[in-house]
Amino acid sequence: MRICVPDTTLPRVVVVGGGFAGLSFVKRLKNKPVQLILIDKGNHHQFLPLLYQVATSGIEPDSIVFPFRKLFRGYKNLLYRMAEVKRVDVRMKKVETDIGEIDYDYLVLATGSVTNFFGNSEIAEMGLGLKSVTDALDIRSHLLQNLEKAAISCIEAEKESLGSVVVVGGGPAGVEMAGALAEFKKYVLPEDYPELKNTNMNVYLVEASDGLLGVMPERLSQNTLKYLKRMGVKVLLDTVVESYDGEIVKLGNSGKIHASALIWTAGIKGVAPSGFENDVNKQGRIVVNNLNGLIGFDDVYAIGDVAFMETRKYPKGHPMVAQVAIQQGRKLADNLLAMINGKHVTGFGYKDKGSMATIGKKKAVANIYNLNVSGFAAWLIWSFIHLMSIVGVRNRMLIGFNWMWSYLSYDKGDRVIIRKYEPGTKMKYNE
Ligand SMILES: Cc1cc2nc3c(=O)[nH]c(=O)nc-3n(C[C@H](O)[C@H](O)[C@H](O)COP(=O)(O)OP(=O)(O)OC[C@H]3O[C@@H](n4cnc5c(N)ncnc54)[C@H](O)[C@@H]3O)c2cc1C
Repeated sequence: MRICVPDTTLPRVVVVGGGFAGLSFVKRLKNKPVQLILIDKGNHHQFLPLLYQVATSGIEPDSIVFPFRKLFRGYKNLLYRMAEVKRVDVRMKKVETDIGEIDYDYLVLATGSVTNFFGNSEIAEMGLGLKSVTDALDIRSHLLQNLEKAAISCIEAEKESLGSVVVVGGGPAGVEMAGALAEFKKYVLPEDYPELKNTNMNVYLVEASDGLLGVMPERLSQNTLKYLKRMGVKVLLDTVVESYDGEIVKLGNSGKIHASALIWTAGIKGVAPSGFENDVNKQGRIVVNNLNGLIGFDDVYAIGDVAFMETRKYPKGHPMVAQVAIQQGRKLADNLLAMINGKHVTGFGYKDKGSMATIGKKKAVANIYNLNVSGFAAWLIWSFIHLMSIVGVRNRMLIGFNWMWSYLSYDKGDRVIIRKYEPGTKMKYNE
């Protein structure tokens, strides 16, 4: 079966994935002389940097998801199709999806990445990843269900186990998650759960290396550790998580933690449809040239997390972050138009604006244009950048401020279990 799209004399560009990379690519080509077909298995773009807020009941999911059909109002050259791409035949220039096939003149893969459990099937089954709104809602339900169970238990050890959460991975996602959980414990627990004491909820952050936020300068890493400890997070460095059966986290140093929730932020890997088995590296990323082109082809491209481009400055590929995805999307769009018009194309060069992580609602660490900032000032920068990014997606200032209000006020009705979560039965959205 073929996917129904109008015939065209324009070059047809099939884009797989409407994340940061795919979206910035099509935005740049809005109403340009190409036919864009955007395929995504979901019907919405997700603003992943704020997933941890949804997972910890800080904001509602609507604040960070944007339906494609609404985003693409006013696009005269784009068709969106909700479908999962299963396979690509680069020789026949054909994409196979669960709703049919489609031919392309140019193909852009922007399929992103998934959680990497490094082959530990027990943790993959019993732990929780954080890569989609579905994951975040699973975490939220699980945490709230556990607290309900803890509230009615009369056994102190059981209460503590039900209230304890282990976050694995001391990168930005793990740090932000642990900080938000610590704030939940401080502000929400005493108000909403009078049956529980402060000691009934413990937040652990376990990191295999000797420091947090490994990509950041040492001083910011130290400050992060200090802030988290002050907030009551039990940070375990140089510690590997070996297994998790849903109740006990076994650590490499033969220690163990009783916890009813384990959130895994310790790794991601690229995800590509079948047909690229010989083109991916060990991290599942498609190896591309400096034009983001598949080696040996001039009509297939990969951008964002799924792309691996080796450069002198980035011998291990670019970091899997939103800015790389956005910049690659824009650059490829410009190059593609130039190519179609017989003009000169230039290679991708990443402009690194820096990185940041927030630790609770009033503190952050930021390394921007080589300037290190910590504490409240960094938090203001973090807030401004995220506010602007959300506004950038929705293009409406008012909605951005609504999001900010949701974020700042904890006392909203988001602590709702919309659908129950059963450990070991995760909704598989991002695999
Ligand atoms: C919890 C978390 C926090 C983060 N925080 C930050 C941060 O603070 N700053 C930062 O810069 N970066 C952050 N990142 C990283 C950033 O979100 C990613 O680098 C970015 O999303 C990559 O964009 P992408 O377009 O390549 O992939 P994605 O945004 O993952 O988009 C991929 C899209 O492809 C679709 N897709 C995948 N496979 C298929 C298929 N077979 N068929 C159809 N559709 C498919 C998916 O549904 C998805 O919409 C964070 C990531 C996470 C998970």
